Amino acid sequence: CGIVGYIGHREAGSVLIQGLQKLEYRGYDSSGVAIHESPSIQIRKKKGRVSEMAALFKASPVAGTLGIGHTRWATHGETNDQNSHPHVGGNGEVVIVHNGVIENYSSLRTQLQALGYVFRTTTDTETVAHLLSHHLEEQIKLGADPSELSTYLKVVEITLSKLKGTYGLVIMFQDLPNLLIAARLGSPLVIGVGKGEHFIASDASPLIGYTDEVIYLSDHEIAVITEDEVEVIHRDEGQQKLSIQTLDQVS
Ligand code: GLU
Repeated sequence: CGIVGYIGHREAGSVLIQGLQKLEYRGYDSSGVAIHESPSIQIRKKKGRVSEMAALFKASPVAGTLGIGHTRWATHGETNDQNSHPHVGGNGEVVIVHNGVIENYSSLRTQLQALGYVFRTTTDTETVAHLLSHHLEEQIKLGADPSELSTYLKVVEITLSKLKGTYGLVIMFQDLPNLLIAARLGSPLVIGVGKGEHFIASDASPLIGYTDEVIYLSDHEIAVITEDEVEVIHRDEGQQKLSIQTLDQVS
């Protein structure tokens, strides 16, 4: 339902939680955040109001300047703590938040279970997380370099090509502690451009007060977002020229 992501110099936890509170108006049934606390990614998530998840986070905080958050409006799988986003692939090598619906999740789930992937939730989204892990493992077996960004972009491209349905996705890889990858098909995502920091969200409300410079992602685009740079790649057209727009001032 609602997505927010951050990379920069601030504590990601407070940026994400405030952002999720600004997305609350969209409606939701649960929420969560994942923060890269090198070398691993830590998750706090909970059914209910963002304030309940925020209390959990406060009792058990995670420090770090790279993270993603989500408010869920359940479409597949009941509303409970485990089914809340973010979702983890494989043994924690990838963590994602997702808006939309993966229509072929059931056949993907069966295939991934046959490959040995253990599902922790009953959501459609978890299939995407394990599929990313699976293709990462495959690429590395084929000799791809696990320290190269190009390996992960290929993994994301292959994974997206297997999905039927809609997505706004934001992805963190455990071994890439300096960037976020986002992808869009049929579910909006907007990047907020700051100084030495970037934001990503499902609508501009979490960005207000931080920046009024934005880049809207289009369908079939993938964005690679670091502190200082944004790169947008279209599935068929390759690297895109960035179009930075100014948010209309609310008068
Ligand atoms: N289909 C996903 C789920 O049920 C995402 C729902 C949403 O957009 O919040 O978990």
